[in-house]
Formats: sequence, structure tokens, C-alpha cells
Amino acid sequence: MKDRRTELAENLAKVEDRIAAACAAAGRKREEVTLIVVTKTYPASDVRILSELGVRHVAENKDQDAGPKAAECADLPLTWHFVGQLQTNKVRSVVRYADVVQSVDRPKLVTALSKEAVRAGREVGCLVQVALDAEESGRGDRGGVGSGAIEELAGLVADSPGLRLDGLMTVAPLTGEFAGREQAAFERLMVLSTVLRRAHPAANMVSAGMSADLEQAVAAGATHVRVGTAVLGVRPRLG
Ligand SMILES: *Cc1c(COP(=O)(O)O)cnc(C)c1O
Repeated sequence: MKDRRTELAENLAKVEDRIAAACAAAGRKREEVTLIVVTKTYPASDVRILSELGVRHVAENKDQDAGPKAAECADLPLTWHFVGQLQTNKVRSVVRYADVVQSVDRPKLVTALSKEAVRAGREVGCLVQVALDAEESGRGDRGGVGSGAIEELAGLVADSPGLRLDGLMTVAPLTGEFAGREQAAFERLMVLSTVLRRAHPAANMVSAGMSADLEQAVAAGATHVRVGTAVLGVRPRLG
């Protein structure tokens, strides 16, 4: 049987080839796109191997798994992203290890993140999660806010001590007008990002695309892709 290191190295090389090809096809430089490996449900030992293989960004979606894993991997030169729906009672824990929270979707969460970031003496990057299947003023099934709520939430982040407004994140919607139209969805996110950057020029992160649709995200202009299964394998349980 292939050892885990060889398996991860091969998968990583395939994903790297896909990103490079997508950049070339879109006329973008490879450096414009950052790979975030989503390590949720996989052990700290995998995170360690990925770090040795050159991965610099990892993402998790559940604090109870991520907290111990990040603690075990505290010696590694990694940037930790939190991408799951986040309850305010988990914020104190998440702020200990998360460099970026990509799933900011309500004012109460911003207030809690700010308070705990200040208490911990840390600066936490924040992405507003956009639900492209929600009404302008609504909320998405998989988290996120409708486009009408971005400006207010972004302003709140920008004005909150301990927080840094980094940009926008989305997950391709399964329902609504963008269902099955990933590239159109990601292009819509880019338009929303352009609008956001008029008021917040530094908030230029656009996090979009996963294992199945990273090419469409790169084509649309994403700066960050979040890839789990294509690197680590099919997850043993839902996460
Ligand atoms: C799990 C997850 C990913 C990675 O999905 P894959 O299909 O495994 O690549 C990306 N983004 C978010 C928010 C996730 O929860």
C-alpha cells in the first residue's frame, strides 16, 4: 500500500497542475491564486505532512476538531482559516488559532470576534460569506448573507478593533438561479468584490472554488481556492 505521504504528495501535485492550467487558460499568473487545503475530518498527522510538502494555508470548519489539531500543529508555519458556520460561544476558542475567519455572516458574530480578538491580543482577518442562493436581504442554507447585507457587515468589521476586513467568500449554491452554474456564481461574487473594494480597497481576497469547481473559480478571478477531497481523499464522514 502507498504510504500517506506519497498519496498526499501525488494528490497535491495533481491539484497544483489543475490550478496552474486554470491560471494559464485565464491568462492569470499562478501567484494570483492561493491554495487553501481543507483538512477537516483528517488528523493532525496529515496537516504535518502537508506542511512538509509546502502547503502554507489550511482550513477547518468545526471548532471541536480544529482546536486540538491546531494546537498539535502550532509549531508549523501555517495560516489557519475557519470556514464553517460559527456560533458565538465558539468564538473565544476559534480566535486562539484562526488567522482568518471566512464565514462572517452576522453582526453578532462580528461583535464577538472583535471582543475575543482584542482579549487575545490578536488580529483576525474576516471574509464576509455571501449566499448567492439567498434573496438580497436573506440568508443562505449553507451560511452566508444575501448581497444586500455585505456593505453593512463589511463596514462593521472594518470599524471593529482586532479585526481586519479581507474580502468575500462563497460556496457555489445548490439551489436558486446559480444552481449548476458555478462560473456564473463566482463571476457574480467578483462583481460584489469590485463594489466592496471601492469602499475597502485592501479587502481584495475572493475565496471561491472547491475540489469540483476550482477551475471555474480561477476563471472568474478568485484569489483563494479551498480544496479538501482532491488532496486528502473522500471524507470518512460528513463535515
Ligand atoms: C469542505 C469545504 C471545502 C472543501 O470541499 P471539497 O469539495 O472537499 O474540496 C471548501 N469550502 C468549505 C466552506 C468547506 O466546508
